[in-house]
Parts: sequence; structure tokens; C-alpha cells
Amino acid sequence: MGSLNIENVKKAFGPVEVLKGINLEVTDGEFVVFVGPSGCGKSTLLRVIAGLEDSTSGRVVIDGVDVSTIPPAKRGIAMVFQTYALYPHLTVKNNMGLGLKQAGTPAAEIERRIGVASAMLSLEPYLGRRPAELSGGQRQRVAIGRAVVREPKLFLFDEPLSNLDAALRVNTRLEIAQLHRRLKATMIYVTHDQVEAMTLADKIVVLNAGRIEQIGGPMELYNAPANEFVAGFIGSPK
Ligand code: ADP
Ligand code: MG
Repeated sequence: MGSLNIENVKKAFGPVEVLKGINLEVTDGEFVVFVGPSGCGKSTLLRVIAGLEDSTSGRVVIDGVDVSTIPPAKRGIAMVFQTYALYPHLTVKNNMGLGLKQAGTPAAEIERRIGVASAMLSLEPYLGRRPAELSGGQRQRVAIGRAVVREPKLFLFDEPLSNLDAALRVNTRLEIAQLHRRLKATMIYVTHDQVEAMTLADKIVVLNAGRIEQIGGPMELYNAPANEFVAGFIGSPK
């Protein structure tokens, strides 16, 4: 399970309203991409879903449960950041297992899950290394692996490819797509890159200045953009 309902979510930082009433339904297993220019509120929306920020008003509902009083670690969510956020002093294996260990998962189960995730992400040769001994692409695969072992209902990705060079971006994008097919998990993916959005998404949410401009499948947005902004952003012909 991994359905998500966002109901009229608003978020202000002081006097500045950054999310101006977001409504969105995500069904179990969907791959949803939030796309929009820098500063439009994509990361803030992801952080509100994860519980890293409280909304000013509105509700976030996961599998039918309002999660406003549920702390981030208990929401069944795993987040992957642009900057990987790995512990430098821990091996790949221990980076992947730490969250499970802290949650009291038995050691044998941690081993099993790391085995599955590292096979899926071709990380077996690197399990004993530390992050400094890995390339950027390998580090991001570790961060993704750390999310996979938690078996979350919802994966949240915040511009996970932004720090990678062009060739690695393509590879890692394909790996994320493959992961989605294999796990059949719900994934929400933030990017400002139109190509990533068009190739990964079941459904694209176009954000602009804290509002949703349009929600639709890639071809729907391309062929029938709701307005000039969406047309310009998705690259529809004039
Ligand atoms: P995006 O991810 O789309 O680039 P963000 O969600 O990071 O945009 O930011 C949206 C707006 O909210 C920006 O104007 C940003 O400066 C502002 N913002 C984000 N986080 C904070 C914060 N903790 N305090 C104040 N302003 C913030
Ligand atoms: Mg951002």
C-alpha cells in the first residue's frame, strides 16, 4: 500500500506563502513527478509529505491516515536527497543498515534486505567501502539502497540526479525506473528537468510559485497543456 492524498496544503515561512493550497491524489504504485522552476516549492512540498516540515494548514493522508501527528520515521516514507546524505565514517553496508538497526530490526533481517537491495543496485562489490571511496553515481545508489531496505510505502526523491554528470544521470534514471517496476512502490520524484519528468512519470504535477498549474500524463501535458506556462515548461510546440 502507498496511496497519498494532499488536501489543501498551505505552507508559509513567516509572511511568505510558499505553498498556496495544494491538492493531489496519488494512487498506490504510481510514479509521480513534481516539476517546476527553482523556488516554486517542490522541496517544501516533499518535506511536508515526509514530515520534515509542518504545513501551515491542510492535510497529508497516507493510506487513509492523517499523518499530521505521526513523526517522519513512522510514516513509512524513505527520502533520497540530491546530496546523498551518507555517513562518511560508515561502510556502504552500515550506511544501508543503520536506520533498520536503530528501528530494532533483527540482524538477520537487516542482512537479508541489504542482500536484496545491493543485488538490485549492483552494490555488492562496494559493501565494505566508505563513501569517500565511491564515485558520485555509486554514492547515490547507496542512498537509494538505504531507502529500499526500509521497504517504505512511499519513496520521495528530491532531484537525485542533480549532482551527477550527464552519462551517470541517464544510467541512474534508468535504474530508478527499473526499481519502480520491480518494487511496484509508490514514488514521488522532484526535478526541474523536463526530460526526467517526461521519461519517468506516470503522472506529472507542474508547479509554479506554490500552485499546481496542471496534473496529467506526460503526453497529455505535451499535447494539451493547460496554459502557456505548462507549454513552455514541458516544451510543447507553439
Ligand atoms: P524548489 O525545491 O522548488 O526549488 P523550495 O521548496 O526549496 O523550492 O523553496 C520554495 C521557496 O521557499 C523559496 O523561495 C525558498 O527560498 C523558500 N524556503 C524554503 N525553505 C525555507 C525555510 N526553511 N525558510 C524560509 N524560506 C524557505
Ligand atoms: Mg528543491
